[in-house]
Formats: sequence, structure tokens, C-alpha cells
Amino acid sequence: MSQINLAHPRHDWTLDQVEALFDLPFMELVFQAATVHRAWFDPSEVQLSQLLSVKTGGCAENCGYCSQSAHFKTGLKAEKLMDAEVVIAKAREARDGGAQRFCMGAAWRELKDRDLPRLAAMIGGVKALGLETCATLGMLTPDQARQLKDAGLDYYNHNLDTGPEYYGDVVSTRTYQERLDTLAYVRDAGMSTCCGGIVGMGEQRRDRASLLHQLATLPAHPDSLPINGLVPVSGTPLGDKVLKEGQIDSIEFVRTIAVARIVCPKAMVRLSAGRDEMSRELQALCFLAGANSIFVGGKLLTTPLPGQDEDSALFQDLDLRPMGVKTAAPETVAAE
Ligand code: SF4
Repeated sequence: MSQINLAHPRHDWTLDQVEALFDLPFMELVFQAATVHRAWFDPSEVQLSQLLSVKTGGCAENCGYCSQSAHFKTGLKAEKLMDAEVVIAKAREARDGGAQRFCMGAAWRELKDRDLPRLAAMIGGVKALGLETCATLGMLTPDQARQLKDAGLDYYNHNLDTGPEYYGDVVSTRTYQERLDTLAYVRDAGMSTCCGGIVGMGEQRRDRASLLHQLATLPAHPDSLPINGLVPVSGTPLGDKVLKEGQIDSIEFVRTIAVARIVCPKAMVRLSAGRDEMSRELQALCFLAGANSIFVGGKLLTTPLPGQDEDSALFQDLDLRPMGVKTAAPETVAAE
């Protein structure tokens, strides 16, 4: 545990040090991550978030894993921005089903000012339900970030996706620096950041370490750190590559969760896309390694999630409870 300070999160990790964590014997790595997890969180609590796609498909970006990009033929039907009342009704259902945070995602390269009034109404309505609010709307200007904050937005999601070295293999229509800039505007506006990435896109361990190194050396660690496992979509360049070459090894996925927990100890480390394909045992290992947040609600943008019954049974069997709920064995952990 020599590199780990349980009292103070570090911001001075080197890439070699982060990669050395990946290289630890697996049991030692998971033990260290679980120890860090217990220093900052109740390990029996897992936060439930629900994500709604408020504007689907037709995106101008060319993220090589994404079914919503207009650059690839995936058969996904594009839809316009939803009305605020529809979104607020979905948020109410999510809250009544146990969700603590409600995230609104739009498939945009960047937010347009003309959409701000409707988004502000959505965010204000969701916040009034007592939910934490989160949105992912593409790149922002500093002024847009301030307006979203004023509308009641608590968290803004903007992922780095991967390390800078592999980034060029993932997307070419947005630079890494543009992502870092949007994150800076979000922090400057006083919102919490939700920022993570995707593993299993054909990258190497060094690239996964590099992503986590970037996150761990930001001026402020992300408050939420989603780790997505690529769900390969046929018709996308990275989906086709992974369908041909094979998906990431599940033990390597757990290592990624564990290292994320160690280098960003106060973050909500979230098991995101790909959970539907994970066994119960793999999810349990991820929770042991420091994951303490999941998406619920049957669907994560365009990829499936486990159903409410499966999640309820898993929580019961693992003696986990949704964050913010005091009883140990919830009957229901999520709304569909
Ligand atoms: S990941 Fe987001 S920005 Fe990239 S193509 Fe998909 S919707 Fe657009």
C-alpha cells in the first residue's frame, strides 16, 4: 500500500505508477482497492442512477463505438429532443423505483443555445422531484455551463473515453483537449463532473492505465467515474473490430475498476455499459473491487441493462442496498 494514501487522494500519479497498479497480483490489487473503498464509503451501499436518452441518434461525431453516430449504418432510428414534461414523467417513475440520480443524454456534438430553454425546464423539473440531476449534451461553452448550473444541474457527464495515445483510433471529430476544456468549464461553473471511459475497444493495458492517469491528475478528480465495457455494435468500426477479435477479458475489466477506485478514491465508480453481459459473480467482484454505482432502468441509452428483478435478487444475495436506503434487503432496487 506504499503508494496509497488513505487519508488524502493523490493528484500526482505518474502513468508508470498507474500501470504498476494494473500489474499487481490480482488478489493484492483487489484487496488494496477494497481497503480504499472502505476508507471512503460504506461498501454495502451502491448508488442507483437512471439514464434517459432525451435525443437519440443522428450525431455529427464519429465515435467509433457509437450506434448513434450519423457516420455509421447501425439501423438506429434518430429521434428529436423530447418534451420536458415527458422527461419529467420518466424521472418521476425512476425516483419511485429507487433511483437517486437521473441523467439526461443527448446525441449531440455540442449543445446549441436554442435548446437551452427546453433543457432548463427539464432539469428544473427533475430537480424538483428531489433527484440529483445529470446531463450529457456534448461540448459546452463556459456560458452554457453556467446556464445549466443555474437551471439546477448537479452533474455534467463528459467522458474522456480512453487514454490520449489510443484516442485517435476512437474518434477524429473532437480533440482530447476539447474534452478537457468542457470538463474545465463544468468545474468552473460549480457543477460536479462525471467522467470516465470505455474499455474493451481494442486498446492495450497501457491505454487503460493512461485513461485513469488522465482522470487521476485532473485539477479535481471526477465525482462520478463511469467505466463502460464496450458493447460491440455491428456497423461501428470498433464494434466490428471487437466482434472479430474478441472482447476484453473479465479479470482485466475488474482490474480496471480496482485501479479506478485506488487512483480516484472519492469518486462514485460506476459499472455502466456492458453490465447486462456480466455474470452475477463478475458484478460481485466489481463491487468488491470498489464499484459503488450502477445504471438501472432496463436500458442505457441504446444498450440493454439487467432488469429490475435481476438487480433486486443480486442486491439481496450480496447484502447490498441502494445508497440512501437504510434497510439491508430491499425488495425493489429499480424501476424498469
Ligand atoms: S458517443 Fe456521443 S458524441 Fe460520440 S457519436 Fe455517440 S452520441 Fe455522438
